[in-house]
Amino acid sequence: MPINTPILSRQDELTVQGILNGTHVYPHECVNIEQLAAGYEPFLGRDQAKNIKIVRALVASSYAPEVRLGLRMALCQRSRRCQSLFCVVCAYRHLRHFLGDIESLCGENQRSGIIWVTVIAGVTDGGTPPVEELIGCARHRWSAALETASSHDPAFREIRWRGRFEVDLLRGSAQLKKNKRKCLTELGWRDEPRTPWLIPHLHAAVSLGEIAPERLEYCLRREFKASYQVVFKRQHRNKTVETNLRNMAGYALKADLPESSAVHPSVSGTTPTAARRGRYDDAELRFYARMMDDLGGLRGTLDFSRLNDTSA
Ligand SMILES: [Zn+2]
Repeated sequence: MPINTPILSRQDELTVQGILNGTHVYPHECVNIEQLAAGYEPFLGRDQAKNIKIVRALVASSYAPEVRLGLRMALCQRSRRCQSLFCVVCAYRHLRHFLGDIESLCGENQRSGIIWVTVIAGVTDGGTPPVEELIGCARHRWSAALETASSHDPAFREIRWRGRFEVDLLRGSAQLKKNKRKCLTELGWRDEPRTPWLIPHLHAAVSLGEIAPERLEYCLRREFKASYQVVFKRQHRNKTVETNLRNMAGYALKADLPESSAVHPSVSGTTPTAARRGRYDDAELRFYARMMDDLGGLRGTLDFSRLNDTSA
């Protein structure tokens, strides 16, 4: 495939060719990935495949910034980490820090009380800028809700959390559960199979201190009013605290690829097969990878926490 972008050096062009013809060596093939992924082995293969799929889609683009992003991911190395959510090396490194942060939210004997909170920030069909706005607004509203509550009860100031925003890309409604559909509809989503909707939402592990979960839930629901916009989950009783917290970290960083739930009609108009459902196309992948990178990747806008001040 000819690379018609003027930005590539000869070396980069060879790298692009290597990626496209499958001979390129990815960074995760050069590091001790099993060690890095300790505790998350079942997902490693999936995440490596996701990494390669996205890099390939990006370098095959005719749009220079997308090629550059793909190369940054493919050439990720110790001295120059790409910080992409979809880079296996960067994501798993981040995952370990993320889990460490969750564990440091409170003392060891209180960790079983850490809960898992999901808040839908909103919906938009307008691309990255409104997503950034919705995330900024949700961060502000979350903090304001806690601030208001702490003026009545100072114990609210002790609440700590480690969270991340994710952005779902949704096209069509086939995979939506009833509660989610109700929530998104109230937030302005419309069931139009051809429109790609973006749904930024926060996942956070929260340590409540003296505050009962119901009180935090009440205070957040006053701010995020749509049905099921705020969802609280306690830890699974039949799993160890260690496993529960590890799952929280893994879930916050899972970076699901956009999957189109719409059924793509075939050209001849025959009934689409099941195999055609749930597939994303390369243009969607590229858009999604670029948007997540514009939002700061593993850093920046998507990160949202209040941790214990360890400097004290
Ligand atoms: Zn990387």
